[in-house]
This record gives sequence, structure tokens and C-alpha cells, in this order.
Amino acid sequence: MAVLENLTSQQAIDLENKYGAHNYHPLPVVLSKGEGVYVWDVEGNKYYDFLSAYSAVNQGHCHPKIVDAMTSQAKTLTLTSRAFYNDKLGEYEKFASDYFGFDKLLPMNTGAEAVETALKVCRRWAYQEKGIAENDAQIIVCENNFHGRTTTIISFSNDPVARKNFGPYTQGFIKIEYDNLTALEDALSNNKNVAGFLVEPIQGEAGVYVPSEDYLEKAKALCEKHNVLFIADEVQTGIARTGRLLATCGNCSCKDKNCSGTPQVKPDILILGKALSGGAYPVSAVLANDDIMKVITPGSHGSTFGGNPIAAAVAMAALEVVRDEELAENAFQLGALFREEMNKYIENSDIVKLVRGKGLLNAIVINDSEDSDTAWNICAALKENGLLAKPTHGNIIRFAPPLVMNKEQLLECVSIITKTLKDFE
Ligand SMILES: *Cc1c(COP(=O)(O)O)cnc(C)c1O
Repeated sequence: MAVLENLTSQQAIDLENKYGAHNYHPLPVVLSKGEGVYVWDVEGNKYYDFLSAYSAVNQGHCHPKIVDAMTSQAKTLTLTSRAFYNDKLGEYEKFASDYFGFDKLLPMNTGAEAVETALKVCRRWAYQEKGIAENDAQIIVCENNFHGRTTTIISFSNDPVARKNFGPYTQGFIKIEYDNLTALEDALSNNKNVAGFLVEPIQGEAGVYVPSEDYLEKAKALCEKHNVLFIADEVQTGIARTGRLLATCGNCSCKDKNCSGTPQVKPDILILGKALSGGAYPVSAVLANDDIMKVITPGSHGSTFGGNPIAAAVAMAALEVVRDEELAENAFQLGALFREEMNKYIENSDIVKLVRGKGLLNAIVINDSEDSDTAWNICAALKENGLLAKPTHGNIIRFAPPLVMNKEQLLECVSIITKTLKDFE
């Protein structure tokens, strides 16, 4: 259909509106090219990408090493299904297991699938290893969590928009306040049916809520005490985003080039997705040690595409980029600089209440009511000034650029952001 070549932005938007289900409300920008920290729209305007596809593109758009791995594998072998072995999967499983310090990896495709997988592993472990009576297992989750969009996952969400009219909901979840150790201890005490505690090290979607410094460590200790699996959803926080390989890496800033990436707070089950492929391909994974992963047996779980050779090749390249280009260290340095610069601005500003975050996962809270459209309007103005970001939950704007950014670029972005904000004072 030659008439569809070289669409204007408006034409592309109209097509999506007419023929696509309306499950998103995008900023009106139509992107057609990306490279590193930049994206371009169909009219050729260049932008800094400050969302990175929700932290999937940590390695930057179209990283040549990842694209090479993908195209060369795509020309050789794309999919075998797991009915047969392929020559890339085992190599990748060893590479990623060593990289994150676990015995085994279970490959899936999307983040939500990996969360579902972790829940299934946890439940099986509860019945087969912990000795909970069948169908009695409960998993503790946190208020304002975001773990994906499947029917089970939205069953334990408390976002009314994500839940309404999608019931009946899946049973077996206990919801407690995030960053509240007393609530966790209460939920664990006197309940022999608790199998796991599923938690985001930083609540990204909720608005980049960073818990108290010792929260994860103490939560892990409580789980250990009660023989409950600590399940970390690092789909958004993992792979260098927060200034370390994993957000569960304690206080490690990954300055040590020989750092094995072994977390100081080691989850029993680790869930990864998004940047595991550098945004090139849907790749997710669940990692655990043998004593847990052994509950998964042939036929008990699977995925046609999970562990396909392209995914394996892409994920290995994406993880190599993170290590070779020291992206955790860069995110650590630039994140500190970003918050420092933003705080200078906030001191004399009425429009921004605060900046918070870790590494290059940050957010500003706009000084207006949660149902105001100020944050949306600021994002529209940022777009006009060459920077793309999106509000999350009303008056909060998340800032998460690709981690391949350099200092000059970051400072230019700070000046775009502060100049734009000044117009809203
Ligand atoms: C994005 C995200 C998911 C879901 O990933 P999808 O690939 O969109 O299914 C799960 N958990 C967290 C913390 C996320 O940020």
C-alpha cells in the first residue's frame, strides 16, 4: 500500500485511533527512528528519550552490538520450540545464571509472564517443599504494586482502572503496605500458609517510591525466619537502571569492575524482563537456585517462544553491553548529578515538590492535585522542547533516560527540564 508510505504524525495517530484498541493514551508524538539516547519523529524532530520504553532500552536505542546479535541469529535460526534443544539456549542460561549468581534460569518473554512463572514456582515450592496443604498457599504482595496485566496479577493490584470489570479475581494473595516491616511481620506471624513475598525493590509505576534504606534487607531476613520465599520483581529496577546491576544489590555502587553482580540482598526468586534484551526483543526470565527451581518438571510450565535462539543471543549481547560499558556505574554517577541539579532548581521552585529515585530511575512530584492535568501539560511542553517523558499517576513525572547517556547530554536535559518547568511556575 504505497499510499501509506511516509505518513505524517497525524495520519499515524488517526490510524491507531481508528484500528487499534484504545488501551493506551500516548503523548502525541510518532517515532520512527532511535539511536542511543535519541529518538526522531516522522517529521524528523529529534528528542531525548526520558522514558526508555519503561526502562527496557537501558542500553540505548538500536545498540549496534545487540542489533548485530539479533540480525545474525535471525538469519540462522529463529525458533525451534522447546520440543527440541537449540544451540543458543544452554549457553545463554549458563551466561545469565553466572551473571546474576543463581543456579538456574527459566526463560519467558514478557515481564508479566515471568511474574506469573515466579508465582507458580513459589506455589509449587510451598506444596512440595514447605508442606502447605494444597490450594492453601498465600503470597504477600504490596499495596500500589505493579507486576503486569494478566488476570492473576491484576487480582492483587489495587489500581481500580487496571481491575474494574475484569473479575472474578484469583485468590491467594495478602496485600500489605509497602515499606512497612511491621505489616510484613504481622502478615508472616501465625500464618503457616504464607509461601512468598513478592516485592518491587523500588515501586516504579506507582511513582518511583524508594523504600527505607534497610527495608529490603530486613524484609529478606523476616522471610528467611518464616521460611517464606523472597521474590524480587526487578523487571523495571534491574539491569543497571538504579545504579547497580540489581536494585537488590545492597549498597554496592558497582564501582568495582570485578563485581560479580552478586546481590547483597539475594532474592530466592529473581524476576527480570525489559532491559534483559535492551528493548530489542521480548525477553524475560525467572532465576532461582536448584532447591527451588527443581519443582518445575516437564509439562508443568512452558512457552512456545520462551528461550528461543534470537532471545538467547539478544539477551547475552544486552548483558555484555551492560558490563562492558559499565552502565551501572554510569547510572549511579549521572543519577546523583541529576537529583543534585534538580534539587538546586526545586529550592527556588513552587511547581515541583521534590525529586526522588536511585540511579537513573527518578521522578519529580508536581505541586498540584493528583487529578490535575499539569503533569501531562508539562510533558507536552517538554516534547516541544525536545525531551520525551510521561506522567505516572497524575502529578508524578518519571525520568528514566537510556543509561548510555553522557554527562554533557544529561546537563543539557536538566536545562531543558528546568526551562520548561519555569513556564509553569
Ligand atoms: C513492566 C513491568 C512488568 C510487566 O512487564 P511486561 O513486559 O509489560 O509484561 C512487571 N513488573 C514490573 C515491576 C514492571 O515494571
